[in-house]
Amino acid sequence: MMIPTSIFIFILAACIGSFLNVCVYRLPRGRSLWGPRSFCPHCSRTIPWYDNVPILSFIILWGRCRFCEKEISLRYPLGECLSAFLTLMVWNHAIQADLHWTEISIRLLLTYALIVVTLIDLEFYIIPDEITYGGLVVSFFLVFVMPGHWHAVSRVSALLRMLLGLLAGGGSLFLVGEVAKFLMKKEAMGLGDVKLMAMVGALLGWKTALFSIMMASIIGSVVGVLFILMKRLKMESRIPFGPFLSLGTFIFMMWGDEILRWYLNLLYVVRM
Ligand SMILES: [Zn+2]
Repeated sequence: MMIPTSIFIFILAACIGSFLNVCVYRLPRGRSLWGPRSFCPHCSRTIPWYDNVPILSFIILWGRCRFCEKEISLRYPLGECLSAFLTLMVWNHAIQADLHWTEISIRLLLTYALIVVTLIDLEFYIIPDEITYGGLVVSFFLVFVMPGHWHAVSRVSALLRMLLGLLAGGGSLFLVGEVAKFLMKKEAMGLGDVKLMAMVGALLGWKTALFSIMMASIIGSVVGVLFILMKRLKMESRIPFGPFLSLGTFIFMMWGDEILRWYLNLLYVVRM
């Protein structure tokens, strides 16, 4: 990719990341996304536009509020960087795969939704309905305006494929949660996770949903055991599952075809 294009995308995506930070702060607190303007959480003063430049302002202000000099959370520049780098990855991959701009938009929107889900779930242990129901509404809308997204020739078959993905994603995770509840004798999975995978399945199909769940379970177990070994986590403590589901979905959205090919090859070699 051309360097000026990359820089332009990076800056634009960092600004989007700035808005994602607003969502992460306001959605779980039930505040409006559209106003008032951003303010310092310590002294409540409105942040002037020149102090609200993504990443740069944090560096220039040395991580402190201009007025009350209290620390600005590192999560703000991190959220902006995350948005910028993931956007570049999705964009690069989409150009190589020669995807249509509508497909690129869907992948970018989903990536932003996953960033917000991850950051909120890590802190509040919830996944906001605004995101998951919003994604489902977008899926239904897309069935009518671009059934080709599901490689379907008619709207009816697009709708069926979308519903199949929705049920596969949400249903299988719901079953996993019920089995875990039965085995562990306590609530193991939130309904937010189920809705998240219903959204992923509806948007990206049943294969992506199932593989994302599988990958999330593997990565989640490894990280959980590592944290327990490092004594950073107690055996009985809760780990939010949303970040792992988001990571699994992102990995599969980017490299799903390669992973499936590798997996099928492996099965073939094992059988030989
Ligand atoms: Zn302040």
